[in-house]
Amino acid sequence: THERISILGLGAMGRALAGALLEAGREVTVWNRTPGKAGDLVARGAREASSVEEAIKAGDLTVVCLLDDSSVRETLAPVAPKLDGRTLVDLTSGSVRQARELAGWLKGYGVRFLSGGIMAVPPTVGTEGAFILYSGARDLFDRVAPVLSPMARPHWVGEDPGFAALYDMAALSGMYGIAAGADHAVAMVHAEGGDVETFKREVLGLWLEQMLPFMVVGAEASETVLEDSNPGMQATGLETMLAASEEAGVPAELVGHLRASLWRMRHAATVA
Ligand code: NDP
Repeated sequence: THERISILGLGAMGRALAGALLEAGREVTVWNRTPGKAGDLVARGAREASSVEEAIKAGDLTVVCLLDDSSVRETLAPVAPKLDGRTLVDLTSGSVRQARELAGWLKGYGVRFLSGGIMAVPPTVGTEGAFILYSGARDLFDRVAPVLSPMARPHWVGEDPGFAALYDMAALSGMYGIAAGADHAVAMVHAEGGDVETFKREVLGLWLEQMLPFMVVGAEASETVLEDSNPGMQATGLETMLAASEEAGVPAELVGHLRASLWRMRHAATVA
């Protein structure tokens, strides 16, 4: 944990990551494309580097947290030939293919590389519950995890450098799906003259919280729920919900695709 850490990127997330590391007493050097974003961090003990090269040289390991894959490429390309033997952890959100290609590109320059996915937002960085997915060589993860753990609980998901991105993006899909359903729910309540705030506070949040384990935990929980909520009943229930949406004049676009699972449920009910 005595390793010196450099952070490339001082957006909202890079600043939060650097702050959590400083809080834990780590030695931190920061760099940002646009200067002037390190003020608060410098006051808290960080060193500001004036170039990417200087930043990477100042650290035993470098954490990259930029906007997207192309900003990472743009930032690293000029220094890539000088990265032999360096350790780099990229926490920039990207696709599976981008992570794999970045890993391959950096490997060509002799970089020890981990790709990550941050399962936190800036205010939850460094707090309980926040975690970061990492993929790449296990021994590298074992070295880096205790160094970076103040940012969020480190969780390794495999040697394939694309897996952190894969699980990150898939988890985002789960989140946006729920958010879309919640938007639709609120639109229904609003259209029928209900009080949206009351509905959210007294019904929707509590209901989603109660159902979340059944939606995501998998076999054990879903078998339990299916036992007492048979597919035929669920199919009818889904149809009733879609009819209520139509009655309210709210297009069911956000949840309309559920009809596909409705058909699957019907089919399961027929064959059962
Ligand atoms: P911000 O928009 O706050 O910051 C973007 C950062 O990227 C800035 O430091 C910016 O530098 C830099 N940047 C953009 N383009 C380039 C470029 N071409 N070359 C060099 N630097 C560039 O984003 P966040 O900090 O919030 O997010 C950073 C990453 O973290 C993203 O990949 C995001 O998906 C991920 N993330 C963010 C979460 C969040 O809630 N904020 C949650 C989970 C993941 P400059 O100041 O010069 O513009």
